[in-house]
Amino acid sequence: MIKPVRVRIAPSPTGEDLHIGNVYTALLNYVYAKKNNGIFIVRIEDTDRTRYVQGSEARILNSLKWFDLDYDEGPDTEGKYGPYRQSERLNFYKKYAEELVGKGKAYYCFCTSARLEEMRKGQIARKEPTLYDGFCKNINSKEAKKRSLNEKYVIRLNVPDSGTTQFEDVIRGKVTFENKLIDDQVLLKSDGYPTYHLAVVVDDYLMGISHVIRAEDWISSTPKHILLYHYLGWELPVFCHVPLIRNPDHSKLSKRKNPVWASWYKDQGFLPEAILNYLAQMGWSYPGDIEIYTIEEMIKKFDIAHLKAVGPSFDLKKLEWVNGEYIRKTENPKLKDQISNYLDHNYPEEIIGKTIPLVKERIKKFSDYLPLSSFFFEKPTAYEIDIKAWKDIFAKTSEKLKSVKKWDAVSIGEAMQQVVNETGKKSSDYFMAVRIAVTGRKVSPPLNESMEILGKEESTERLKLV
Ligand code: GLU
Repeated sequence: MIKPVRVRIAPSPTGEDLHIGNVYTALLNYVYAKKNNGIFIVRIEDTDRTRYVQGSEARILNSLKWFDLDYDEGPDTEGKYGPYRQSERLNFYKKYAEELVGKGKAYYCFCTSARLEEMRKGQIARKEPTLYDGFCKNINSKEAKKRSLNEKYVIRLNVPDSGTTQFEDVIRGKVTFENKLIDDQVLLKSDGYPTYHLAVVVDDYLMGISHVIRAEDWISSTPKHILLYHYLGWELPVFCHVPLIRNPDHSKLSKRKNPVWASWYKDQGFLPEAILNYLAQMGWSYPGDIEIYTIEEMIKKFDIAHLKAVGPSFDLKKLEWVNGEYIRKTENPKLKDQISNYLDHNYPEEIIGKTIPLVKERIKKFSDYLPLSSFFFEKPTAYEIDIKAWKDIFAKTSEKLKSVKKWDAVSIGEAMQQVVNETGKKSSDYFMAVRIAVTGRKVSPPLNESMEILGKEESTERLKLV
């Protein structure tokens, strides 16, 4: 029988929000699920209590919703494989950890942190790998059980001393690890919480995960997982470790070189669909020629086997370009609503609507809108160039404009041209001075059209304020 496709992302609430790298894996999993009539699951891996960040889970889930990467099962949905938050599943992990101890595939370890520290120091001094030295491995099971009643302990994976552990990866093919280099990983901590390794295997199994599609930095953990599947007698899921997205200099995507949290992109006014489009193209086509396509088209085009094996580089400038393309393709009324939403409805929608045709070509993201357009909503508070010397000419201009009957860009332009002719001023200097008086800035949307939107009264008043 073919297993139904069930895929998952398993974010840890240890950061500000959803990491852009996780957006990428979420997209891959989502698209894979949709393409195969499968189920996309979100599981919150919150067992590392020392790194737990309050509010992080809610922000992660909100960001997934913002991207429209709807999950079928997750901590805030129904689903028969729940709970979908690991801190609510502690009994499962304990049960399987004890089962492993019973089978001799895991053991109690009573080593103190002082001893472990000593051991580590020695290994470093001898230039040996810093792996647990197996000190508690041979305590007989009766004695271990007895000690566990009074002493603090962890449960460790019993990794064979020799041989290899192998698995098949969709992208990399056969991957082999030497067992002697695999640590006797802690599975259950002294606080009763599992480590990632035990919890991920137990949950992927219990939740019926068919394909584990995750970032390649988990590849070195996978042999521990494979051993656990074997020891527990469970069938393996398909593993697909995808290349990490990187900074343009190929270093690991980091907060220092690129903004990494979804909320930053939201705050900057990127469109979620543009980000997904950009990430998709990075992963399975060539960064040179980005096409604009919808998530439905992505679902059609996507093939996990076509994922590139080298980490695609995440170039913010390119993303901005893609985002700008999306903005230009958006119908004006919709764009008006989006910008208005972005500005929390603090600016009159009617004016936003009128300004759209003037700024649409010039903005790459919504945060570009206000710096370019704030003069439509308020008088300039400062001028980029000193224009006091133009006072008399502005008075003339103001008079001339008052006589304009039909207040539109063409008539406004004609009236001002007449002032140029009558005063003999250099045209470019004159129009720059008027632009500064009206907008405060040297660079602005087209002047005549902007004045048409501002209206006769407001435009002439601004000329008089100088
Ligand atoms: N909790 C891990 C993370 O934060 C999940 C890794 C996995 O997908 O197995 O990314």
